[in-house]
Amino acid sequence: MIDLNFDREHLWHPYTSMENPLPVYPVERAEGIHLYLENGQSLVDGMASWWSAIHGYNHPRLNTAVTSQLDKMAHVMFGGISHEPAIELAKKLVSLSPQPLQKVFLADSGSVSVEVAIKMALQYWINTGVSGKHRLLTIRKGYHGDTIGAMAVCDPVTGMHNLFSGLLPEHLFADAPGCRFGQDCREEDIRSVRDLLKAHHNEIAALILEPVVQGAGRMYFYSQDYLRQVRQLCDEFNVLLIADEIATGFGRSGKFFACDHAGISPDIMCLGKALTGGYMTLAATLCTEEVANGISRNQGVFMHGPTFMGNPLACACALESIQLLEDSGWQEKVLSIQGQLEEGLAPSSDIASVADTRVLGAIGVLEMKDPIDMAAAQAFFVERGVWIRPFGKLVYIMPPYVIEKPDLALLMDSMIAFAHAL
Ligand SMILES: *Cc1c(COP(=O)(O)O)cnc(C)c1O
Repeated sequence: MIDLNFDREHLWHPYTSMENPLPVYPVERAEGIHLYLENGQSLVDGMASWWSAIHGYNHPRLNTAVTSQLDKMAHVMFGGISHEPAIELAKKLVSLSPQPLQKVFLADSGSVSVEVAIKMALQYWINTGVSGKHRLLTIRKGYHGDTIGAMAVCDPVTGMHNLFSGLLPEHLFADAPGCRFGQDCREEDIRSVRDLLKAHHNEIAALILEPVVQGAGRMYFYSQDYLRQVRQLCDEFNVLLIADEIATGFGRSGKFFACDHAGISPDIMCLGKALTGGYMTLAATLCTEEVANGISRNQGVFMHGPTFMGNPLACACALESIQLLEDSGWQEKVLSIQGQLEEGLAPSSDIASVADTRVLGAIGVLEMKDPIDMAAAQAFFVERGVWIRPFGKLVYIMPPYVIEKPDLALLMDSMIAFAHAL
């Protein structure tokens, strides 16, 4: 028996209270697109373990990649040492990312890769002799992670700014884009970013955003034209652009990177989540030659080096996951999921409790009019044999790409039944 009493007494889960912990479901194993509970019930997974398990669970090719690396070495320090898994993974990342991104920093989680990106931007300006550029500009309703530096560029209202005020550096926040994916970006949509850049560019090291898909902050898809204009403004005002592709990288939005929708390339890019196909924690921060050269000028060194940097098991797994993605015809698969989501979620727009329905790539979202009771919602979905975890007013799915039509239909039917039941 899984000891849920001990869990309740001693284990933190994400964003929970120790006084009043919400129920957790004991998962014994996972296979393909199914999670298996201790009582034998199987759940169709709609979450891909937060964007990461794109190939499903217990995949033979990923298992082999990890176990064959395990036979050679699980880990070795990266200071003064290098190894094939890290080198081959970096080669792959450089070849897949926009051409100007040439240098790779392997970090141990998404939040850390954001810290690394911020530090790169700050060190670039310091070491190229441009003083005063020590603030960041971002757009509201974003999410970039839970560590202190990343937290400071999350949405100032729904994020943790009030709780930690005084500790967090005070950055600049432009209005969240109101233009939807596929729409033109109007002057009033971009004005806030332009005005802040005009007024503060001498203090701004970088603009950081989630390209096209604002994920954990609001599950919203904004205009690729907006992103294109942001890139131009960053160039015009001599500010670096950091694209946080941690959620969107590896095909989720229908393009390999969400930046590809706008045909732009950032100066610094963060990757994580699906990087290892959901097996292990690993992230990467890529930057241009120009940024790397600036940091390295006059014997400059980049001031970061985590203990588990370039972990060989995680690198070997990531490399195999990317190869698997390339072999799988992912683009067709994601577009077919998108088509099925558009069709299957369309009826939700007539339901009284639903404020908005959105689909992009393999992401389907129902935004409700009122906040959802998460524990009740989870119980509702588990009873129907699916794993969907809403937050705020959002019920959303981003299933493994290997999901088949009937299973995706079950996920969507459950979302619609939930909306009707409200
Ligand atoms: C999840 C996420 C992060 C943080 O990654 P962790 O691995 O949870 O630290 C940062 N940025 C975005 C866009 C994310 O979705």
